[in-house]
Amino acid sequence: MQLHILASGSTGNAIYLKIGGASILVDAGISARRIEKGLRAVGVDPAELDAILVTHEHSDHVSGLPVFTRKFKAPVYARRRTWDAFQPAHHVEADYRRELGARLEIGGVRIEPFAISHDAAEPVGYSFYHGDLKCVVATDMGCVSERVEQDIALADVMVFESNHDVAMLRNGPYPEYLKKRILGTRGHLSNLETARCLARMDKKCGMHVFLAHLSQHNNCPDLALSTVEKVLEQQGTRLDQDLFLHLAHPSDTVSFSL
Ligand SMILES: [Zn+2]
Ligand SMILES: [Zn+2]
Repeated sequence: MQLHILASGSTGNAIYLKIGGASILVDAGISARRIEKGLRAVGVDPAELDAILVTHEHSDHVSGLPVFTRKFKAPVYARRRTWDAFQPAHHVEADYRRELGARLEIGGVRIEPFAISHDAAEPVGYSFYHGDLKCVVATDMGCVSERVEQDIALADVMVFESNHDVAMLRNGPYPEYLKKRILGTRGHLSNLETARCLARMDKKCGMHVFLAHLSQHNNCPDLALSTVEKVLEQQGTRLDQDLFLHLAHPSDTVSFSL
């Protein structure tokens, strides 16, 4: 498998995943130009994408879709209520629109969307299964239910939100209503929530976790890493043996292969 996180955070998200026979983009929340450039830079022809999978309708996940789909004609999958909630500016032509069901099979890869808690119409994360390999993309979550913990368990590679540090958010520049939204159960995961979830969940030995969707105002990469490391170490996880931590970047491509 190959993973290229082209962009991650509130300024835009796009994740390319090549697994088995499937060539997939999860979200297209940066400009079509940047997606095209990012894919070409890692040797991927955008015209050969099998599908674009949408997590939810917020513009940091879909703003590049209209132009990108018109140019490269990839089918776009999203939940029905997600399609219904699309802003007019993000309109995707009917020819490319697909309704996301309970599961999907592309190129021998089983793709299972799962419901997450976020202030969008019908937000999802995704699990990808091929042979023994499992990859998960799960960002934009106000909390992680037991159900989601099962959905994301035993992954080999996981892109997982670590959005903010609670103290930085509380003392930061955001207006009160926005702080409340982010801290709520349909907002975003704090570093500590992410750390605790990782500590609790069933893990595959040697797994790789990419901390993603970090806030540029209410977090910093070192703090996210150290918070998660500390909790995992306390819990007895041996870093760089049992679990490898990595950081996604807001605008630079982060690549990984297995
Ligand atoms: Zn987002
Ligand atoms: Zn969102």
